[in-house]
Amino acid sequence: MKSFYLETFGCQMNVVDSEQIVGLVQSLGYSSVDSPEQANLIILNTCSIRARAERKVYGHLGRFKPLKQRRPELIIAVCGCVAQQEGQRMLEKVPYLDIVCGTHNIHRLADMVRDAELHRARHVEVDFLEADKRRRLFPERAPSAEVSRFVTVIQGCDNFCSYCIVPHVRGREVSRPSAEVLEEVRLLVEQGAREITLIGQNVNSYGCKEDDEISFASLLRKVAEVDGLERIRFMTSHPKDLSDELIDCFADLDKLCKHIHLPVQAGGDAVLKAMRRGYTRDQYLGRIERLRRVCPEIRMTSDVIVGFPGETESEFEQTMDLLERARFTEIYSFIFSARPGTSAADLPDDIPKEVKQQWFDRMLALQEEITRQYHQMDIGQVLPVLVEGSSRQGNGQLFGRTTWNRIVNFDGNPDLVGRIVPVRLTVAYRNSHLGERV
Ligand code: SF4
Repeated sequence: MKSFYLETFGCQMNVVDSEQIVGLVQSLGYSSVDSPEQANLIILNTCSIRARAERKVYGHLGRFKPLKQRRPELIIAVCGCVAQQEGQRMLEKVPYLDIVCGTHNIHRLADMVRDAELHRARHVEVDFLEADKRRRLFPERAPSAEVSRFVTVIQGCDNFCSYCIVPHVRGREVSRPSAEVLEEVRLLVEQGAREITLIGQNVNSYGCKEDDEISFASLLRKVAEVDGLERIRFMTSHPKDLSDELIDCFADLDKLCKHIHLPVQAGGDAVLKAMRRGYTRDQYLGRIERLRRVCPEIRMTSDVIVGFPGETESEFEQTMDLLERARFTEIYSFIFSARPGTSAADLPDDIPKEVKQQWFDRMLALQEEITRQYHQMDIGQVLPVLVEGSSRQGNGQLFGRTTWNRIVNFDGNPDLVGRIVPVRLTVAYRNSHLGERV
C-alpha cells in the first residue's frame, strides 16, 4: 500500500488546496500517514506570507534528506506559495527534491507524481494560467463529514499592497462561477457540513471582473438559500471593497455569522498610503461605523502591521487611537519585515528594532485589555453554539463556536455534533471559553 505524508502551512486557502492534494494523491492509490518516516510520498504545502518562509521550507526539506538517502524511491514534493516563488531554483538547490508545484498547477500534481514513480523524473511547474483556464480548475476536495468547511470563491489578488507577496505568488484575481460555488455548497451540506466559510484573498471583489457574474453580496444571499446550511462566514475582506450592499447582508441574512475580519493594517493615512491600501483612516472607520449601525451585535477582528518604513511616532499613535475606537475583539499583529519581491522591500527600513518592539508591545497590551473586556462581558451569557466535534483538549468535552467565531468547550453528548445548541459561558481563557449546556 502506498502512503503519503502532507504538511500544510499558512492560510485557509492552503487548507483548501491541501484537501484537493489529498483527493489527487488518493486517486493514485496513496493513503495518509502521520509521519514522514512511514511515507512513500512527502508533500509540503507551503506559505510565503512571512519573512524567511523560504528558509524555513529549505530547513524542513533538510530533515527529509536522510530518508531519501535510505529510500531513494521516496518522492518529495513542495507545493504552494514558496514553490511558486522559488521554482527551478528550489529543484537546483535541493537535489533530492522531486517535484516543485506552483499555486496554479495543483491539478497537475497527480501526473507529476506518477511520472516520478515510473521514470524518476523531476518536475517543476510554476506557470500562471490564463484566467479562463484557471476558472475551470478551482479545487475539488475529498469528501468529509466535517461540520465546518471552506469553499473557495475567488483566487489571487489585484491589489498589490506594497508589503504583500500574495499577488506575486497567487496571480491575479479570478472568481469562480457562482453556479459552481452553489453546487459545492450543496454537496458539502449533503456530506454533513452545517457551516460554510466562503474564502478568497479578497472575497469582496468577487465577480467584479466578470461581466456576467453576480456580486459577492448576491452570492451570499444565494448561499443562504441552501437548505440544511445553518451558518455562513466569509474571509478575507478588503475594506475598500466592502460595499453597502454587502454590509446590509449582516442585517438581512440570519445565517450570516455576526463576525467580520476586516484587516486595517495601520491607523494613519501616510502609512496606509505607503502600504497602498486604497482607503483612508476615516473611510475605514466609516465602514465599521456602518457595520455597527446595520448590525449592532457584530464583532470584528483585524490585522495590524507595526513599524512600516517611514512610520512616525504620531502615525503609530493613530493606530493606537484607531484600535481604541474600533474595539476589535482580536487582532493579528506583526512587526514589519520586508518580503523580497514586494515594493516595500525597496523602502528604507528606517525604524530602530527596539522602537518597533516597543510599539508592538504597547499595541498588544492595549488590544489584550480590550479582548479581555469582551471575554469577561460574555461570561454568564447563553449563546447559540454550533457543535463541531470533540474538544481538541482531549478531555472528552465537545467544542463549537459562537456566531463571533469564539471557541466554546463544554460537556455534552457526541450526538450534538452538527447542531446549534444554547451554551452558557462560564470561564474565559485566552483562546476559548468554557461553557455549560442549558
Ligand atoms: S489585499 Fe493586499 S494584503 Fe490582501 S492579499 Fe491582496 S495584496 Fe495582499
